[in-house]
Amino acid sequence: MSERPQSPPNPWGDLRGVRPVKVFSRLLREGMTEEQAKSAMASFGVSSERAELCAEAAAVSGEVLRTLLPGDICLYIGIPFCPSRCSYCSFVTHSVQKAGKLVSPFIDVLKKEIVFAGALMRESGLRLRAVYMGGGTPTTLTAAQLHDVFSCLSSNFDLGTVDEFTVEAGRPDTVDKEKLRVMKDAGANRVSINPQTFVPEVLCNIGRSHTVEDVYEKYALARDEGLAVNMDLIAGLPGDTESGFARSLGCAADLGAVNITVHNLAIKRGSRLNLEKAPLPDAAAVGRMLDGAASALTGGGYRPYYLYRQKRTAGGFENVGWSKPGHESIYNICIMEELCGILSLGGGGVTKMVDRETGYIVRTCNPKYPYEYNVGEEKILDGKLEFFRFYSSSADRKGEQDVRA
Ligand code: SF4
Repeated sequence: MSERPQSPPNPWGDLRGVRPVKVFSRLLREGMTEEQAKSAMASFGVSSERAELCAEAAAVSGEVLRTLLPGDICLYIGIPFCPSRCSYCSFVTHSVQKAGKLVSPFIDVLKKEIVFAGALMRESGLRLRAVYMGGGTPTTLTAAQLHDVFSCLSSNFDLGTVDEFTVEAGRPDTVDKEKLRVMKDAGANRVSINPQTFVPEVLCNIGRSHTVEDVYEKYALARDEGLAVNMDLIAGLPGDTESGFARSLGCAADLGAVNITVHNLAIKRGSRLNLEKAPLPDAAAVGRMLDGAASALTGGGYRPYYLYRQKRTAGGFENVGWSKPGHESIYNICIMEELCGILSLGGGGVTKMVDRETGYIVRTCNPKYPYEYNVGEEKILDGKLEFFRFYSSSADRKGEQDVRA
């Protein structure tokens, strides 16, 4: 182990931006063959392995994007609370230990936002294709609070058109049978339970207040409710090894997670991990962890279908979502490929308006922090008006049809 990640050659060369598959897909839509698109990537210095990864992910995500109908959008609901803070986290999320009193007023404003957006949605002719409740950890809310939010959602939005409804239950210590039942009754069909690692010492190093046994137990509960399970793992965590990471990957696959997203640890400026300067696996070791993950997941019948890059990662590697065929997350693809509007409610939600004809994208952001969100009703509702004004234009509808061509 070295003190900090080294800086090996960047496998993405000079390619800028966080969404390489979006670039690759655009080249295909502009008429290039797959081989020509790979050559174009090579001209940016992208390694042949990464160009191949883009080709595979673009092929799988393209299958899903072709099922988008004119007027399909996704809905995101952000719950910016967690039971405690992970050492690598710089997300805008508040520990309920410190900010518990903000939760109830947050839910009150969120319900107003849901009612307001739902009324605009009914007039718009748009349809929800996927719902994603993230954060934070939405299951930090109690079962009664979740029920309250979901009841408001189903009273104000037509969920009959939704193919995919995911709830982030990232921290297994926040999940119980009652909450899973509430989600299921609300129409959720997919849940994320994120081990990050199956090595107990590594879990301890990153400050997650759950055990490996919790992951197994909550996974079984979710499956008993008939929910498909996504799992996240992170390569390069403090104290982890190549064999430890390979074991973690094997545990997630053996459990039968339909989606496994393999992250490359990013040392965020605002994270405790950055301040602590913890010893980490070096970039070469992380590269081997990711290569091993790719071959193990491919051998296990998973396919890469979305990927994105972050700053401050060991080796400049990427995060890749792998899924069993037919279990690709529509929401993850839409957010990465930016070919569909995302209406975002709740804390830190980024609403995205996409003109598919021109590629023009407008974003509006809800207040990031719960204490700002709780007093920001006027600005929040204005952002929703902007979304529906944008989608009343006929030009965008024409663009939506292009996606299916
Ligand atoms: S669960 Fe996710 S959002 Fe919450 S503190 Fe950990 S990394 Fe951050």
